[in-house]
Amino acid sequence: MDVLLPRTLEEALEMKAAHPQTVPLAGGTDLMVDLNFGRLRPPSILDVSRLPELRVLSREDGHCFLGAGVPYSRITAELGEFRPLAQASRSVGSPQIRNRGTVGGNLGTASPAGDILPVLAVYQAEVDLVRPGDTRALAWDRFLLGPKRTAIAPDELIAGVRWKVFRGTGSFSKIGTRNAMVIAVASLCLVLDEDARQVRAALGSCGPTILRAAAAEDYLTAELRRAGSWDDPACRLGQPVIDAFAERVADAARPIDDVRGTAAYRRHGLRVLARRALAWALEDRRQGR
Ligand SMILES: Cc1cc2nc3c(=O)[nH]c(=O)nc-3n(C[C@H](O)[C@H](O)[C@H](O)COP(=O)(O)OP(=O)(O)OC[C@H]3O[C@@H](n4cnc5c(N)ncnc54)[C@H](O)[C@@H]3O)c2cc1C
Repeated sequence: MDVLLPRTLEEALEMKAAHPQTVPLAGGTDLMVDLNFGRLRPPSILDVSRLPELRVLSREDGHCFLGAGVPYSRITAELGEFRPLAQASRSVGSPQIRNRGTVGGNLGTASPAGDILPVLAVYQAEVDLVRPGDTRALAWDRFLLGPKRTAIAPDELIAGVRWKVFRGTGSFSKIGTRNAMVIAVASLCLVLDEDARQVRAALGSCGPTILRAAAAEDYLTAELRRAGSWDDPACRLGQPVIDAFAERVADAARPIDDVRGTAAYRRHGLRVLARRALAWALEDRRQGR
């Protein structure tokens, strides 16, 4: 098997165009598992881990851009202000995996259990795809098409993701068989967007791809308005409202039974995650955090 070693993004794109069957390798924490288990035998590997263009982190015009090659350890260290993103990054694998694993790799694998993906869904992120002489931006839900399926073309690479920065409290949390080094059995990203006065919630590991819980979002958005809570964070929501929100989150799931958990357990887990995430978000707002 050949290994292609481009030094710049331009060189990498030329190589990809010339060898469409070549498979990009970033941190290798997903790809090497597939190679080692014999699930994949591409004619060549394109090492994109050294491309400076993919390691860019920038803020411009109220947007944040996160390069595909930025590893989780850097996100945790440098993007702490995006709390759900930092929490999701901190929950991936082990320190070794977080030093190697990248956002581009999480997107490229497109597992419904990818921890960064519900956060990108809540941020309404766009994925920048590049090919020689051309760039296109795809909304996260037009990029992720199904379990391990994406809209990337054979001559394209993921350059990074971009989202509009907004004010609001929120979190990423996941359920697994233990606290660390675990693939999510169910995960939830919840954010209260103070600018749009809109609740945003996305589920991981509970459907064929990442799902937004639209009915739950609309319900809670309206209840926060009814309670006067968008204007005054001290206004409280009753327990029936919190429970009804959690129920709607669970209803948004399209889970299956698999080796990691049953559909019923995933729905139960989502109710728990939703109640907890909402309690944290409301308390953070009350404390002005
Ligand atoms: C022990 C262990 C624990 C793990 N724990 C977690 C966890 O808790 N949560 C979680 O979400 N994941 C976990 N993972 C999976 C993995 O670490 C993540 O999905 C990680 O984000 C993959 O990134 P990478 O850079 O290593 O990708 P790679 O393995 O290099 O690539 C993954 C896929 O993305 C493609 N790709 C990578 N970069 C690009 C690019 N720029 N353009 C186009 N395609 C690209 C590759 O071709 C490949 O198909 C774990 C893996 C291991 C081995």
